Amino acid sequence: MSIYEPLASNDSRRHLQLRSPITLEPTGELICANKEDVDAAIAKARAAQPAWAATSFKERAAIMNRAVKIVINRADEIMDVVVGETGKARTDAMSMEVFSVADSLCYYAKHAEKFLKPRKRKVHGVLGFTKELHITYKPLGVIGLITPWNGPFVLVMNQACQALLAGNAVVAKGSEVTPFSAKLAEDVFKEAGVPDGVLQVLLGDGATGAAIVEGGVDKVSFTGSVATGKKVALSCASQLIPVSLELGGNDAMIVCADADLDRAAQGAWLGSCMNTGHYCCGTERIYVVEAVYEEFLKKVLAAGTDIKQGHDLRYDESVGAVFWDKQMEIIERHVNDAKAKGATIHIGGDRNPELKGLYYQPTVMTEVNNDMQIMVEETFGPILCIQKVRDEAEAIRLANDSEFGLNGNVWTQDKKKGLKLALQIDTGSCSVNDMAVSYGIPAAPFGGRKNSGVGQVNGKKGLRGYCHEMPVVIEKRGGAIPNAYPYTTKSAEGMLKFMQILWVKTPIGRWLS
Ligand code: NAD
Repeated sequence: MSIYEPLASNDSRRHLQLRSPITLEPTGELICANKEDVDAAIAKARAAQPAWAATSFKERAAIMNRAVKIVINRADEIMDVVVGETGKARTDAMSMEVFSVADSLCYYAKHAEKFLKPRKRKVHGVLGFTKELHITYKPLGVIGLITPWNGPFVLVMNQACQALLAGNAVVAKGSEVTPFSAKLAEDVFKEAGVPDGVLQVLLGDGATGAAIVEGGVDKVSFTGSVATGKKVALSCASQLIPVSLELGGNDAMIVCADADLDRAAQGAWLGSCMNTGHYCCGTERIYVVEAVYEEFLKKVLAAGTDIKQGHDLRYDESVGAVFWDKQMEIIERHVNDAKAKGATIHIGGDRNPELKGLYYQPTVMTEVNNDMQIMVEETFGPILCIQKVRDEAEAIRLANDSEFGLNGNVWTQDKKKGLKLALQIDTGSCSVNDMAVSYGIPAAPFGGRKNSGVGQVNGKKGLRGYCHEMPVVIEKRGGAIPNAYPYTTKSAEGMLKFMQILWVKTPIGRWLS
């Protein structure tokens, strides 16, 4: 039985049965937008965008600030919808889908104007005497925003907020696994004052997503799996439209001999199990230097006794349900493969037999290696895979022996060493003495290396990524153009002498640069 399965349909739209991962009972029906619906939404967005782009930064920021209050005032309702669709722990819903949304809306509302306002830049060299350079950030138009199921509200809100503040209209689509959490984003922005047509969240599946990508949008902002990301990239390449791809990961944690082991043990649990392990920057591989391996493992196992899993949806339940059966299959396949190849299971290692829904027990395993799927693929489950390594150099080598590079974390009480080790990991971003927090810091540009993605979102760079950075060069003085036709030998020779003076015989050229 699948969490969402096709239903008979008497119209041209695909109908899917939705089920709760908590109870496995049917919860509703998803009617997927078809190509005509998508085309109509894109046309509506295109018609609405110019008036939206003509509003001031202050007006747009005021709307985002209203959205912050709405998110906080409707926090319970948002958590109910997200937890109902995903089965994630309520505290995860609060921190990831409410706190971080409010925090990033607030940040972008405050800084968007500063990042995007037109600016005059000094022109270098001799051209500086005659030219003015103006840089303007023009919205791209209509953004197609496609998001996954693991952060179903936050990933729509965060990217839509940036695209909207830059003056774009947005046609978004959340995952078919969590359609109504994504739809809430439209509701919140509408209540905050975003005009009709400027942000639309469509309900649908992969075919709906493909119709958005191929529907004539001006940029695609995609977050999801590597396999789908490659399809989206191919489609965007053939249309010559920009795309940002935020894809999967298999992040490494490195525990050094001088780490605060109590904090590192907490970080290992949280990094691996937060959001049921369905966190793109979740810790999937833990490398511990042999000098502290036994002590670290002891602390991890001791901390594991307090971790509660339940289906009462209360704040004191730490690890929620697996969000859908397809992910459960991957988790079970990876754990069973590791068991068969000699991994030792210390805690968990199976579904939770006491809970009816899709609950996988928080699991700790050791004696793992790169012959196991769990160490080289993205598992996206509540699993701590701990491997003993000789030293930091071996930890770095293993951390980099991966097709992914999204995030990572290093644990040492020597901050300088932490920074040095972090920079040796071939990854998009990294934390020292904390798990993956970079997505939660809007000023940090976020994006993966290798198969983890292309381009960066968030921060100044992310906001500007929703714009065309357009230079306009204005002549200051007028009069005859110095190098105008007809060309003459005399003026060319004069130019050669001038270049000698600028860059060979005097330092004037360097001073002016
Ligand atoms: P997915 O690729 O299956 O689906 C993502 C979205 O793409 C969904 O909305 C889906 O309907 C849509 N889609 C499917 N086929 C499509 C197509 N051909 N064209 C356009 N859209 C299509 O991914 P998922 O299983 O929903 O998400 C989990 C993955 O997302 C994990 O790998 C996770 O690491 C990754 N992720 C990455 C980040 C990041 O910031 N790097 C954040 C969250 C999740």
